[in-house]
Amino acid sequence: YAKQRGKNRVERYQARYDELLRRRGTLESELRHAIDRQQLRLVFQPVVALPSMRPVGAEALLRWHHPTLGAVRPDEFIPVAEESGLINRIGSWVLAEACKQLADWLAKGHDVWVSVNLSPKELHAADYAGQVADVLAEHGVPAQRLVLEVTEHAVATDMEELIGRLTALRATGVRIALDDFGAGYSSLSHLRTLPVDILKIDRLLVAEPESRTGEAAPLVDVVVRLGHRLGLEVLAEGIGTLAQRAAVEEAGCRLGQGSLFGWGVPAEHLEAQLHGLRSGTRPAPQPRNEP
Ligand code: C2E
Ligand code: MG
Ligand code: MG
Ligand code: MG
Repeated sequence: YAKQRGKNRVERYQARYDELLRRRGTLESELRHAIDRQQLRLVFQPVVALPSMRPVGAEALLRWHHPTLGAVRPDEFIPVAEESGLINRIGSWVLAEACKQLADWLAKGHDVWVSVNLSPKELHAADYAGQVADVLAEHGVPAQRLVLEVTEHAVATDMEELIGRLTALRATGVRIALDDFGAGYSSLSHLRTLPVDILKIDRLLVAEPESRTGEAAPLVDVVVRLGHRLGLEVLAEGIGTLAQRAAVEEAGCRLGQGSLFGWGVPAEHLEAQLHGLRSGTRPAPQPRNEP
């Protein structure tokens, strides 16, 4: 019996594994055509100033809608893109699209910045800083209006190399954000050595106060102070409740992002919000179509 059960388990495991491999293979071959077939688009999630909640920027988030596979989440397809080497082409598309949108908003008089997520592989491509400078020039976007987000996974690699890359990028005038800080293996010492401008506190830390009713949020508090002490701007990610917003504000954090202020939406929806802001009317209600 035990032997039979063991065998069944191995077979089940094998079947699951085969299915995963198949899915991966499908994603990879379909992703190869996703740009040409116009299946990729960007949504923009507002970044707000706290406590005013005025939108000051937006994070560009990639969406892939495939005719038969449906919506595939970035957490699933970005790793496939990274491993298959497709990420460089996709990343270039994202950067160009984001800059195009940013140029449009600036031309309309909106005072915003846009941030774009970078994979470590893109950062390490030959003369990536040069590519960024070219795209900015092509779309006539001032470099200070663009933020590039890197994660701590990129940080886990060769530090010297990374510092060199980030320094070159920053020399173009763009700002660098350290994304997802506090998730996984954060190193406090990285914060001091890395040439970054903005610290994005991961939503796992931001969600912390809710699990300890009544108490302040000690981790968020400490990270915000640390960031400010190091001269960084601090942005709290994944703010989803009023309690979380209150805790983050109490910690002195002046930038926020999360479902409480709005999910990622198509550019024109965010624009409507920015527009209301400029004409002094109330911001248009956010369509709640995510996640
Ligand atoms: P990220 O850069 O940390 O982006 C934030 C993620 O959290 C987004 O998921 C966003 O939709 C989600 N989020 C925002 N507010 C809330 C909230 O209040 N609650 C919860 N539960 N989630 C919230 P998304 O769009 O699925 O992206 C997942 C990750 O995929 C991103 O994490 C980023 O690492 C990566 N990614 C997305 N777009 C790109 C891209 O263009 N290039 C690269 N290289 N990576 C990307
Ligand atoms: Mg990000
Ligand atoms: Mg993040
Ligand atoms: Mg993330």
